[in-house]
Amino acid sequence: MSYVTSAKFKVGEDRWVWNAADRGEFSVENVRKQINKQDGVGIEEEWKHWKHWVPPKINYFTWRTTLDKIPVKQELIRRGIPVSYPLCSRCEVREESAGHLICECTMSKSIWRYVLVWLKLPLSNEFRSCNEALEFVKGLTGSEEWKKVLNVVFQTTMWNIWKSRNEKEFDGYTHTENNIVEAIMSDNFIWLKSRLKLQDIVWERWVDFNIRDIVR
Ligand SMILES: [Zn+2]
Repeated sequence: MSYVTSAKFKVGEDRWVWNAADRGEFSVENVRKQINKQDGVGIEEEWKHWKHWVPPKINYFTWRTTLDKIPVKQELIRRGIPVSYPLCSRCEVREESAGHLICECTMSKSIWRYVLVWLKLPLSNEFRSCNEALEFVKGLTGSEEWKKVLNVVFQTTMWNIWKSRNEKEFDGYTHTENNIVEAIMSDNFIWLKSRLKLQDIVWERWVDFNIRDIVR
């Protein structure tokens, strides 16, 4: 009640005010800055691999993964949250860190090998972290658009590995490596086709990654 009696009314139209912004105006960019601030992320660490060709949730997930801010067991334990089985549930050998789960675990390595073969990239590449994988794409020689497609495929690979981990962890469901690779291919096909750039691509060519005449 005291809030109501102490409230002061101004003359003029009512309007919503976003207190976190200097001018009181709401914007997605401002929300992102606020989240960064709360996560302790500086401007220099802002997500540089943002790609509009995949849904925002994928960008957000990979960004958080590169910062070790996804709820893998190692991070939960570090924050004092009790975890019944501390090791990686897939290999049962190593601690489950973001880098181990997405890149270094035996099954993940095998998925990356499938993806590299599909993308016609050298198999000699092994990644220890998501950041290393994305920087590898950035450093390749080729057109910017082709590299953008590769970046999108890499982000989708990370997302699908995480998704399959959660399905095993929480539902007890184990996907085969083939299932996961098929999901990576079809997710990308749908997203790239619907997000304008690769409207002409057909599935038969996509599974062969035969896109050289389509990407600039
Ligand atoms: Zn493992």
